[in-house]
Amino acid sequence: MSVEIKNLSHTYSEGSPFEFKALKEINITIEDGSFIGIIGHTGSGKSTLIQHLNGLLTPTSGTVLVDGKDIFDTKKSELIELRHRIGLVFQYPEHQLFEETVQKDVAFGPKNQGLSQEEIDTRVRQSIKMVGLDFETIKDKSPFELSGGQMRRVAIAGVLAMEPAVLILDEPTAGLDPRGREEILAQIKLLHTQKQITVILVSHSMEDIGKMVDKILVINEGEVVFFDTPSHV
Ligand code: ATP
Ligand code: MG
Repeated sequence: MSVEIKNLSHTYSEGSPFEFKALKEINITIEDGSFIGIIGHTGSGKSTLIQHLNGLLTPTSGTVLVDGKDIFDTKKSELIELRHRIGLVFQYPEHQLFEETVQKDVAFGPKNQGLSQEEIDTRVRQSIKMVGLDFETIKDKSPFELSGGQMRRVAIAGVLAMEPAVLILDEPTAGLDPRGREEILAQIKLLHTQKQITVILVSHSMEDIGKMVDKILVINEGEVVFFDTPSHV
């Protein structure tokens, strides 16, 4: 799936004394099957930007086209369907875990996709394995009893289980040790090459992602300051 961001601006609390222009006239085309890294200082607008890509935030002006279709000009049912195809792993994993067990949490997405129980079970097992966790050990635990790193892996598994065409990850390796970081990044890279999905990965560090991505998007104070292959940085 291709994602085109057109003249997109986002102002928080528009019209109030706390008004803040977080994104200013962003124009970017992300080609189908590409791997994009987004970097930028804290507060530069990375999380704000990616939350527009599956319609979680509505822009103040401008829009997002997915495969040429304006996502803010769709019916609610189509937007829900779109959220299954454009999977977003939040910066703070606790924002997307809410069921009483890990198994139920990871099954939540596929369940809403109308799959059979058998298909759901297979997807849940596979995605828990993909993020380097042992299914039998972890399946009945509460997501809130897990370590930060485990919680993050479960949140990623939940999105992978939907088999999205576009996978967006907001700092997926934050809080992981170097081995965990490598494991997760390798798995994301593998998914990208094997299934040809589009990947958009937000990171603080160029070191982590410089070698993996097709293009780097650098954002500063809500503006795109660079969008090209990493060799041109
Ligand atoms: P980080 O690297 O720390 O995660 P970021 O690049 O993801 O930062 P955003 O979370 O997109 O940054 O925030 C961009 C700016 O918008 C920041 O200045 C932030 O304070 C502001 N902001 C974010 N969310 C809100 C909100 N809900 N209401 C008001 N301002 C917000
Ligand atoms: Mg952020």
